[in-house]
Amino acid sequence: MKYCYIYTGYMPLGRHYRRAMTRTQPVQATAEADRPAASMGTSYARRDLYEERQTVEAGVGAFATAAIPSGTRIFCEESLVMMTEDATQIELYRAVASLEEGSRAAYWSLAASAKPGKDVSWIDALRQCCERDGESADSFNALVEACERAWSIFETNRFTCKASTSPTSLTTLGVFPAAARLNHSCAPNVFHRYNPLIQRLTVHALRDIAPGEELLTSYIDICHPTPARRSLLRHWGFKCNCTACTNPDVESDARRKKLGELFLRITNRERKRARSAGGWGPKDYEASIKLAMRTIRLLQKEGMAETDTLGVICLIGAQLASLAGGKWEEQAGEWARTAVAVDRKCVGEDSMEYLRAAEVLEATRPRPRL
Ligand SMILES: [Zn+2]
Repeated sequence: MKYCYIYTGYMPLGRHYRRAMTRTQPVQATAEADRPAASMGTSYARRDLYEERQTVEAGVGAFATAAIPSGTRIFCEESLVMMTEDATQIELYRAVASLEEGSRAAYWSLAASAKPGKDVSWIDALRQCCERDGESADSFNALVEACERAWSIFETNRFTCKASTSPTSLTTLGVFPAAARLNHSCAPNVFHRYNPLIQRLTVHALRDIAPGEELLTSYIDICHPTPARRSLLRHWGFKCNCTACTNPDVESDARRKKLGELFLRITNRERKRARSAGGWGPKDYEASIKLAMRTIRLLQKEGMAETDTLGVICLIGAQLASLAGGKWEEQAGEWARTAVAVDRKCVGEDSMEYLRAAEVLEATRPRPRL
């Protein structure tokens, strides 16, 4: 799975397997489910800006072949397969097998580095199906192998499309064949996000990228110190050699850890505010605004001002400052402008994030006196 930054929903592999294995009744596979394609625009990967090349340690990667300006949308891609997190290996295999030939070949050509799960009870379910259908032992074994490979490809290449927002909702995950070639860095130069409005995964340049540079996205929440990031990255079976991981810096690790804590505190306070039904006073707003300020300062110090994380926190800050009013009004406008600029760069003007930020910016504009 490719993780995004904060707020996009992270799903530990263990939970996925546990949930997948507790199912007893297979459900309809959801490959490319319910997609009204006509109004969603085109899918593309900007092959005029990058090429796929073999890397020394990380399989195939995507490398810039031209100067790519910050904010350029490099990928806008439909999924090959999209599944909810409770799908079983068997359901996934069925979804892959039902793809048309070209898409199926593209799926099987992807890297498979994720290890199989420890729970193998799905094999019993498959055996029962095969026995019922009179399949030979050879074809059963071949099927098990194919299911395992399909699963490993999915685990290695999937992106979060719709994050679980509550314990009762499910995360949706998708595989996108061109974007799947993006390798990981904890100091990424591109940003990926699934855009439900156009039903495409988009990948944007986070900064100007020079020809020859590898396009690198982050599979995980980078607001973690090095040991925690290493532990999360174990799922993909590689050791990250990015600049942040090869030269771990105690101060940088402390800042990233602090950023994670600050986000958690702000998020918890925002939940509290939502429950308070307008019962917040000036001191409550001020406390949250100051937390937002600290977070933004820390993001800048850590060199993460190019990431979408800055847009997320600026948008929260702008909303809080706008609600607090008075001396915070100017700050609200400034943060809203930053959120709009960051979202335009990271996810584009057709994203929910951008539209929400533009709406907040509009609300912060001074009203003409009558
Ligand atoms: Zn790294």
